[in-house]
Amino acid sequence: MNNTINYVIFKFFHHLFKPIIYSLSMKRKIQKFLCLGIETTAHTFGASVVEYKDGKFNVLSNIRDMYKTEKGGLVPVMLSEHHVECFDRVITEALEKSQKNIHEIQLISFSQGPGIGHALRIGSAVARSLSLQLKIPMIGVNHCVAHQEISCIYGAEDPVLLYASGANTQVIAYDGGKYRVFGETLDIGVGNFLDSFGRELGLGFPGGPKIDQMAQKAKARNAKYTVLPYQVKGMDVSFSGLFTLLKNRIKTEKLSEIQIEDLCYSVQETIFAMLLEVTERAMAHCEKKELVLGGGVACNSRLKEMSIQMCKDRNAKCIIPENQFLVDNAGMIAVLGIKMYEAGNITKIENSQINPHERTDDINVNWK
Ligand code: AMP
Ligand code: MG
Repeated sequence: MNNTINYVIFKFFHHLFKPIIYSLSMKRKIQKFLCLGIETTAHTFGASVVEYKDGKFNVLSNIRDMYKTEKGGLVPVMLSEHHVECFDRVITEALEKSQKNIHEIQLISFSQGPGIGHALRIGSAVARSLSLQLKIPMIGVNHCVAHQEISCIYGAEDPVLLYASGANTQVIAYDGGKYRVFGETLDIGVGNFLDSFGRELGLGFPGGPKIDQMAQKAKARNAKYTVLPYQVKGMDVSFSGLFTLLKNRIKTEKLSEIQIEDLCYSVQETIFAMLLEVTERAMAHCEKKELVLGGGVACNSRLKEMSIQMCKDRNAKCIIPENQFLVDNAGMIAVLGIKMYEAGNITKIENSQINPHERTDDINVNWK
């Protein structure tokens, strides 16, 4: 009888604590560790060496080579050629800058998705080859989640991420074991929108930084603000209608240099207000007191300024990583790789295929 009671009690507690026991047994105790990160979701081939020591990350190198074009945008096959041509040089440079030897690397972390298939495939092939050749583990990570996780090196605890990049525009926050998307673009990414607008103006690729400069010039001489369509639908945003309007204006009107600068200013004021409206609502809904910016568009001087102001108004902390960690970069891939590895994750060769359409909320977060 006693045995039966003991057994039932044991079963009850075992069942109750199974997830904790399981996760504890999977956890790896890491004191000092070196990881090579590889980023290839789109235009950038990035390599970074990150040291993890006593719970702290130290990015020893973060090298990138970006595919640029005057016309035509990102042609997938040209992207893969670019990445194949530069991967060796970029990795060598990352190792040299970190003053580490390839044989000191203990983990390869690579961006497994989401992104452009042609580009992702090169990164995963390089990661697989290095892992097999060096006989070290590898880990495939989600690029969007990496933009969130890099904020830890700036002391962020539980931020809302405004991820504004070329292909992606999402407002992401951690909730109930996952990173959830609270709002996103219904059509094109904000960076793609800016680059397409820039292309119509003949600014080449990427147009985003040039539009930033032109808007600054306009602001410095009290720009004339034009009201443009403001597309916020629930928690989502949309840019394609605005793009069509701008394209038609550029085609049909003969705009002067000053008018173009004013238009760049008005476009920025409109689209960044849209992004920050949904971001602020996500912060209020989740009751989070930190905002972190991510993505290349977050390099924009006006978006930074408006984000700081919004956080000030609601008494929240605004974390803006250095530009090298806003754009597509391998430092954040290595940081997330180490976190996931420490939590017991690993990517076996047979599971290392790319996931071009992977969603942020597909990922089970077991490292927080
Ligand atoms: P990512 O895809 O995150 O690497 O970011 C690339 C995107 O960032 C491109 O669409 C660029 O036009 C955009 N971008 C970079 N710098 C700026 C800037 N200062 N202002 C606006 N967009 C920018
Ligand atoms: Mg990105």
